[in-house]
Amino acid sequence: MRMKLSKWGQKITADSGILKLMDDLGKAMSGGSVTAMFGGGNPAHIPAVQTALKTELKTIANSDQLSTEALNNYDTPQGNTKFIKTLVKFLNEQLDWPVTAANIAVTPGSQTGFFILFNLLAGQMASGRRHILLPLAPEYIGYLDQGLSNDMFKAAKPEIELIGQHEFKYHVDINSLKIDDSVGAVCLSRPTNPTGNVITHGELTSVRKLAGKKGVPLIIDCAYGLPFPGIVEDLTGLDWAQDLVVSLSLSKVGLPGVRTGIFIAREDIAAAITKTTAIVSLANPNIGQLLVEPMLKSGELLRLSRDIIKPYYADKVAYARRAFSKAFDPDLPYRIHKHEGSYFFWLWLDKLPITTKELYQRLKKHGVIVVPGEYFFPASMHGWPHARQCLRLNIARPKAEIDTGFAIMAKEIAKIYAR
Ligand code: PLP
Repeated sequence: MRMKLSKWGQKITADSGILKLMDDLGKAMSGGSVTAMFGGGNPAHIPAVQTALKTELKTIANSDQLSTEALNNYDTPQGNTKFIKTLVKFLNEQLDWPVTAANIAVTPGSQTGFFILFNLLAGQMASGRRHILLPLAPEYIGYLDQGLSNDMFKAAKPEIELIGQHEFKYHVDINSLKIDDSVGAVCLSRPTNPTGNVITHGELTSVRKLAGKKGVPLIIDCAYGLPFPGIVEDLTGLDWAQDLVVSLSLSKVGLPGVRTGIFIAREDIAAAITKTTAIVSLANPNIGQLLVEPMLKSGELLRLSRDIIKPYYADKVAYARRAFSKAFDPDLPYRIHKHEGSYFFWLWLDKLPITTKELYQRLKKHGVIVVPGEYFFPASMHGWPHARQCLRLNIARPKAEIDTGFAIMAKEIAKIYAR
């Protein structure tokens, strides 16, 4: 007998390209034949960060009261009360954001929070269909399959600024960006996964104004950005107001396993997220919130972000940049996106004679795992040659792996161009 699925069931269980790719990556890893793993997105295991997190974990384990709070109780669906109180004080005092507890919704990972938020704000409305507008694609792969219905996302092509011989930067094409009645919310990650781009303050202000004119929320995904883990070059802050929904995550400070996302939003939006959390998961995991709460209170989380995490990735980026220039023939038409944050490099191989999906297969045979860029563009853009000419590389890898991996890539790519 075959399982009968709803329309949504069919949509969500259809083998998405990314599911197949992740499966493939997992198999390649467990096959033991990987020389360079540039494919994953896990935060690096930074010893000083691991030690600080373990110290907090031990404090919880050694206290009857804390371990009971962390493990044996359901929290409220909004999040842990103590954590939210400390978070609000942190946002008020450190960022000068005029928020109260009513503006906070904790979710089981920000990924789940996005699923809730997107489907609350877009899809079939009483007045017709609405979608989520991504003002600049490529964007975070994890958004694109989250709609309960099809056509959830519309995305805009970027403007491309060429910088020198081997660098480039995407910009929001503000003049072409239209926010009409069919838009339920606008969303962007800053810094952007996959590109390492940080859209400029000017672009952000323009997008914010356009969204504001239509009264639709602008969602800013700060998974890698400010205030923590702060893997961003430009430390100029953001002024939160009622028009913004800002998401934070504990994952990129080193805690993806605790599944904790934080949404800071207008009271009605925060309450709607909380109501949905109650229905889909009753409550959130407590442990991460309780582990981080004292670190937020004492300033330790900011100190770790500023003094350990940010320099760690800056060092990785600088090394990978040098290794790239050393390995690649300067006459090849490659460009790397200007790295302004996150821990990825986004490589553009202009006029590559094959697609980067094909290149992925060829590199895999040599033990080098990358992520083809096409997955980060919505299907409507797959016909654009640029979408088939890019790769995402996780460069937070050991130096020897970077050297060997880049050398293999450079050789293979040179061969393909030479054809
Ligand atoms: N947003 C971005 C840009 C990400 O890269 C990720 C994870 O990789 C997430 C959100 C989701 O993170 P989490 O669900 O672990 O909070």
